[in-house]
Amino acid sequence: MTLVSVSCNSCGAALNVSNKSKFVTCNYCKSQLKVESSGETFYTEILDEIKDVADDVETIKLQNQLERLDREWEMKCKSFMVRDNDGHEHIPTAGGSAAGGIIAVVGGIIWMIFTASMPGDPAIFPLFGLVFIAVGVIGSFSNGSKASEYQTQKQQYDAKRRQLIKQLKNR
Ligand SMILES: [Zn+2]
Repeated sequence: MTLVSVSCNSCGAALNVSNKSKFVTCNYCKSQLKVESSGETFYTEILDEIKDVADDVETIKLQNQLERLDREWEMKCKSFMVRDNDGHEHIPTAGGSAAGGIIAVVGGIIWMIFTASMPGDPAIFPLFGLVFIAVGVIGSFSNGSKASEYQTQKQQYDAKRRQLIKQLKNR
């Protein structure tokens, strides 16, 4: 064991410490000090300050996580968007999807009745109603499953976000 001389990083007092010590308390100002060395040179750092810096780093890390979470969620939302008949993009809802399916079925039936009662031959026209219904129902199911998947993902996102904010508030 060799004694080395360091100066207190708080009050500047000279302190003798073992070159093996990691920590020392200043005899004069009672600061808790961490003994650091760089090559042959020994110096001290005030422990409270080290802790403060670590806290800041942790806070910044949490803030970054929060930002990343929000950014990822924004991207995810875009993948859930569906285009409605007006060309507007929106997140599908279960109700909206069901309503879309019902409108397609009712519209298709009306079309079939209307074209079936038309004079003349082409029996092909009523069949378009069936196609219309099929496309509408498939679209409705597709939007419906998107809507429920969106709800699941949103709940996960909300939970993660709440947790991060709680961690940030506790700092
Ligand atoms: Zn001191």
